[in-house]
Amino acid sequence: MFMKDTYGRTIDYLRISITDKCNYRCVYCMPQEGVELKRHEEILTFEEIKFICEALVPLGLKHLRITGGEPLVRKNASFLIQTLKEINGIETISLTTNGSLIENHIEKLLETSIDSINISLDTLDEQKFHKITRTGNLKDVLSGIYITLEQIKKKQKSTKIKLNCVLQQHNWKEDARNISSLAKNEDLYVRFIERMPLENMNEEGIFQEQVLELLEKIYGSYQKIDIDKHIYGHGPGIYYQFKDLKGKIGFISALSHKFCDSCNRIRITCDGQLRLCLQSSKTYDIRQLIRDGISKNELTDYFSEIIQEKPKEHIFQKNCGAGSIEAKSMSQIGG
Ligand code: SAM
Ligand code: SF4
Repeated sequence: MFMKDTYGRTIDYLRISITDKCNYRCVYCMPQEGVELKRHEEILTFEEIKFICEALVPLGLKHLRITGGEPLVRKNASFLIQTLKEINGIETISLTTNGSLIENHIEKLLETSIDSINISLDTLDEQKFHKITRTGNLKDVLSGIYITLEQIKKKQKSTKIKLNCVLQQHNWKEDARNISSLAKNEDLYVRFIERMPLENMNEEGIFQEQVLELLEKIYGSYQKIDIDKHIYGHGPGIYYQFKDLKGKIGFISALSHKFCDSCNRIRITCDGQLRLCLQSSKTYDIRQLIRDGISKNELTDYFSEIIQEKPKEHIFQKNCGAGSIEAKSMSQIGG
């Protein structure tokens, strides 16, 4: 069965935030002082997360992404990944992480059947990295990336590694050049994510065309890749192969190349609030339904009804400002 919304879009992808805690304070994601954290009892348990996924599978859910906050600060995240991957009907499971803690988790993560790991990395300049993340240390993330690549080769895993880069205005060309160079000899996917207007709204993002023009000068001609979703993931990324790069370059351009008409995803926040669109403020309290004793079949029926309320498109550019996403930071929604 395929879950279709009112606009004919197939919904088969769920982003699950498993914590609102994060060891970083990225300038585009959350305020310096952090966000007000949910109480322990407000956070979905692993059993509740599994229950939600199992209720969505009969409607066509196939792909899961675990995110946060920083998902690896939650104890036993690998165990959850394994549990969810074992659900009949789930085809792929991925993780989005800032990479700072991955070194201690990679063995366990690779023992699960995780399909891809996205690691956020915006610059190779140590001071700038610290300035962007406010608390981070670039060395932790770089060693995390290298150890991850090494372990994948050693254990002959097919897990894909993607680097997510949100470019900052200041010296963006240098950052784009340096980050993309990591894919020169590695089969890595470097993805440039257009900054969305949440925190620090005075700063505009860097757009896809600007980056493509720069990279063409460095790596020669490029070709758009026909997407094999099993390799490139099930999200909105557009990928290119450059002549002088082994890896691939991707773009997620929610503003300049709006992809709402093919949006296939819904989101669950760590406290069990369903969001049908990243930008829409409307939420549905799934946690309460579960704690009130709804059966799995009843939850399936409930999902199939409310999916029809998924908005046609985001309205970021018409409504730029903290209020445009109900003053929530990206870390509270899960990106
Ligand atoms: N902590 C993990 C990380 O940083 O990868 C996972 C959660 S984070 C909210 C998920 C993704 O959202 C990251 O790739 C991050 O770069 C991105 N993100 C956060 N704020 C953003 C913004 N304002 N615009 C675009 N992407 C943003
Ligand atoms: Fe934390 Fe990720 Fe947000 Fe940075 S982008 S503050 S690492 S949740």
